Amino acid sequence: MRDFDYVRATGSDHAIEALAARPGARPVAGGTDLLTLLKDGIEAPEALVDITGTGLGAVEHGPDGLTLGALATLSRVAADPAVRASHPLLVQAVESAASPQLRNMATIGGNLLQRTRCPYFRAETALPCNRRTPGSGCSAVDGEHRAAAIFGWTGHCVATHPSDPAVALSAADARVRVRSAGGERTLALDELLRLPGDTPDRETALDHAELITAVEVPALPAGSRSCYLKVRERASYEFALVSCAVVLGVDGRKRISQARIALGGVAARPWRLVEAERALVGVELTAVPVRAAVERSFAAAEALPGNAFKVEVGIRTAVRAVLTAGGAR
Ligand SMILES: Cc1cc2nc3c(=O)[nH]c(=O)nc-3n(C[C@H](O)[C@H](O)[C@H](O)COP(=O)(O)OP(=O)(O)OC[C@H]3O[C@@H](n4cnc5c(N)ncnc54)[C@H](O)[C@@H]3O)c2cc1C
Repeated sequence: MRDFDYVRATGSDHAIEALAARPGARPVAGGTDLLTLLKDGIEAPEALVDITGTGLGAVEHGPDGLTLGALATLSRVAADPAVRASHPLLVQAVESAASPQLRNMATIGGNLLQRTRCPYFRAETALPCNRRTPGSGCSAVDGEHRAAAIFGWTGHCVATHPSDPAVALSAADARVRVRSAGGERTLALDELLRLPGDTPDRETALDHAELITAVEVPALPAGSRSCYLKVRERASYEFALVSCAVVLGVDGRKRISQARIALGGVAARPWRLVEAERALVGVELTAVPVRAAVERSFAAAEALPGNAFKVEVGIRTAVRAVLTAGGAR
């Protein structure tokens, strides 16, 4: 591991100043992703600015929804009684992530900015990977790509984003509050995480020295039901192969009145099934019409030979999540 300077920030202004003063500096929160990347030589920042003393860990709730401080740990988010009551899909997503020990350290801000689990990006010996070494190529396109993206990828990168909470937050229409020396702005989650295009190394819309300070989660629509479903190779301590978060309105005749659906494990950011969301309105809450509506969004799916199965897994996961959220099974 390369030597680095260490600054313990006493507040968000101090953190932003310390980052701005060093172009090669990075913020560190729980460190559960960044420190692994440092140890494996995948990242080598000249300085780490520790933001755990900046007081950004509060979980607040009001009539309009939740505000999760960027440093709120995953354990804290999942244990909060108001979060459990108002956003059960977020609690399900958080509790499906990593392990209890990791969730005690991992923060919600860091979780959104964790880097891909693509085996070529994480390889001990550097292999061509445009995220790790821009311009070196993408080994996964012609190599091991079982877990790769089926939406929004390019020949420059087929990696997926590994976060569970991000998927639930996308379906909840969450926004991310960020701060820099220039002031504050908010971004939709989909704007925070970039699709690869021809610059996959530019993973987020954040500028250097811009901190996530909070995640704003609007209250779910009155009477709505929700669900987070994670499909993985083993039952625990495993990243999602495909996951799905659903927020659903159902009328008295068991017809869907509104739907928000986000898929995880299929793209470089949570992937909203926009066509399916529209097509589901007015549809009876049973498997056949729900599947027909969900399939609309998969017309745009593009698979590689080794991950073609993810299209069917994605459809089935979304159908099951919709039916489960609606109480049909
Ligand atoms: C074995 C293992 C299994 C895991 N399984 C899952 C899983 O199933 N599902 C899942 O969702 N996650 C999983 N994770 C990932 C884990 O949830 C993340 O590592 C964690 O949430 C990152 O949070 P952190 O606070 O430790 O971030 P850090 O490691 O401190 O930081 C991560 C990145 O975010 C940046 N950063 C952190 N906070 C801020 C901020 N406020 N503003 C700007 N930049 C910031 C850092 O500079 C860094 O680039 C797993 C991790 C491990 C090690």
